[in-house]
Amino acid sequence: MARTGVKQSSWIGRVFFADLLAGLRLTLGYMMSKTVTHHYPDHEKWVPYQRHRGHHFMNTNEAGEVNCVACGLCSKICPCNCITVIPFENDQGDRRPKVFDIDLARCLYCGLCEDACPADAIKLGQEYEVSTTNRATLKVHLEDLIAAPRKSEDGGDIKPAKLDSAGSQHSILRPESDAGRDWWSRVRRD
Ligand code: SF4
Ligand code: SF4
Repeated sequence: MARTGVKQSSWIGRVFFADLLAGLRLTLGYMMSKTVTHHYPDHEKWVPYQRHRGHHFMNTNEAGEVNCVACGLCSKICPCNCITVIPFENDQGDRRPKVFDIDLARCLYCGLCEDACPADAIKLGQEYEVSTTNRATLKVHLEDLIAAPRKSEDGGDIKPAKLDSAGSQHSILRPESDAGRDWWSRVRRD
């Protein structure tokens, strides 16, 4: 017989409404506990752990040049065929991308492009706010990837943030303070 883990109350428990009282006790416990509402996007934002695979970014070297050597491996391995790389040769004879586009509407954030890259160039970051009502904006170009946020050292926490309602419409972290609310301490674990 399958074990459900649900205890059958005794006849005496049924007479004195033990189940009802236990339910009311649980409800009252939640009513009195601290709120765990996440105030996103106006006041707080969840910064995922470093292992999160979000919006891509492109690494650059000390001279400000992209690390990408336009080998096309990321494009070849991409299961969604959403990376377009067109190479060119710069004045120093180095191969660089003339065009490097990623169609985020097709991307499944698998991370294969990052794994295949031999030049430590294309990376998946922690940014996850990519929703839009305009599909065309999901096609990101080389300059977008260079400007995209890098990995955050202290992911896995809720940080103070504010909604950039006048510009990007994204929730942006408030740099004046990194002391986030201790959100996890408010979660009941019983
Ligand atoms: S994360 Fe995966 S699907 Fe997205 S661009 Fe990279 S390889 Fe393609
Ligand atoms: S990002 Fe990496 S894998 Fe893709 S073209 Fe550039 S160097 Fe090659």
